Amino acid sequence: MSRRLDAYLEPLVAAERFMFYQAACDFAHQEIAPHLLSWERQRCLLPEKARQAMADLGLFGLTVAEEYGGQGGLQTELVLMGLALGYHSHSVAITPGAAASLGIKPLQLCGREDQKQAHLPDLAAGRRMFVFGLSEPGRGSDAANPQVTATRVPGGWRLNGEKCWSTNAKWASHVIVHAMTRPQNPPGHRSTCFIVPMDDPNLSYHEMGGKEVWLQSSTGALALDGVEAPESAMLGEEDEGFRVMVTTLNGGRLFIASLALASLAFALDACRGYAQERRQFADQPIGRFQRVQDVLLDMDIALEQGLTWLMHCTAQYEAGHLSRESAAKVKIECSRRASELLPLAMEICGGVACLDEFGLIRHQRDLFVCRVGEGSNFALKTLAARPLMPDIQGLL
Ligand SMILES: Cc1cc2nc3c(=O)[nH]c(=O)nc-3n(C[C@H](O)[C@H](O)[C@H](O)COP(=O)(O)OP(=O)(O)OC[C@H]3O[C@@H](n4cnc5c(N)ncnc54)[C@H](O)[C@@H]3O)c2cc1C
Repeated sequence: MSRRLDAYLEPLVAAERFMFYQAACDFAHQEIAPHLLSWERQRCLLPEKARQAMADLGLFGLTVAEEYGGQGGLQTELVLMGLALGYHSHSVAITPGAAASLGIKPLQLCGREDQKQAHLPDLAAGRRMFVFGLSEPGRGSDAANPQVTATRVPGGWRLNGEKCWSTNAKWASHVIVHAMTRPQNPPGHRSTCFIVPMDDPNLSYHEMGGKEVWLQSSTGALALDGVEAPESAMLGEEDEGFRVMVTTLNGGRLFIASLALASLAFALDACRGYAQERRQFADQPIGRFQRVQDVLLDMDIALEQGLTWLMHCTAQYEAGHLSRESAAKVKIECSRRASELLPLAMEICGGVACLDEFGLIRHQRDLFVCRVGEGSNFALKTLAARPLMPDIQGLL
């Protein structure tokens, strides 16, 4: 049975882009899907062999220009990778996904040429990885006011504090630390970003334990205890670190929306397959029941709508026209719709939906991160509501 997602996607993207998507789907089908269950049951992070296979395929350098050794793709390629890999596993997709959309992107948007020359070729090859160091134990949604501090010392800066929820931390070579530099400034102009090597003797990392989502993804907690950063480590302008972070998140939210839709697409295919095979009551397929049809159709509509909207936003992003509000809205809606429909999809499949091998329970679990990650949906609504009430000043 062909994927419903592919039928909707093909007319929305150029032929060569669709070919890339199909190659990524083939890779995920052959190299990822057969191993997922054993990785999950062993509770292991993404094995080195699989990460290397993704690097060999060029997935880490997907959005890096060819002059720096990358594939020369754009946001569309990133979203297509999210759909292809996320169909099986968010935690596999987020590894190259976060590396590109949160690690490489700030460098591309705000880095100096010498910083790009120094890092992009290795980042593109998957030999290095940057972590996006925004969230902290005491600061999530209120990201404009980090508790990590950077204070001036002769020749540079000294950084202190903690970061958490750092995706890819285990494999990272550097972390982009968002730190408070001038608390007396107006909101949004108080912080600065620094590129800090993970092997700095004053930086320590541990994997966050007890995480029951995105099982193959590394999620680290970082402690900075007097890390010395030279002036040249600054990414972007002094006191404009929040701008570096929020402009990066526009693209990241499109990637998260692609993961949400990938889950919906997987669930739709699983359910329509099951609804045709499973027979009850006079040996009839359960797809004959109207309530089952209702759910399938709701999923199908949500997938077509979400995908059309996401590809439209992605094209706007590439043209430099996508507002923060629009990026937030498509992430909110795709993750909300997929999250609402997943439990109904499981209900259609009855008891087998509880089995890990059936796959739905993984998507149900991982979709929660799409609602909370890269800006919690509740908090993002305050941002997205801004243009509706221009007379109210001071909304996020
Ligand atoms: C698996 C995973 C990976 C992640 N990876 C990264 C990463 O690589 N780098 C990184 O920096 N961060 C990362 N994050 C962190 C993520 O971005 C934060 O979890 C998110 O920004 C929310 O912050 P918080 O969890 O501290 O929630 P809080 O800010 O404490 O908010 C808790 C809840 O309060 C409500 N709320 C808060 N503020 C508002 C508001 N203004 N309006 C309405 N309601 C509000 C919402 O319901 C929200 O969910 C990751 C998170 C997870 C779970």
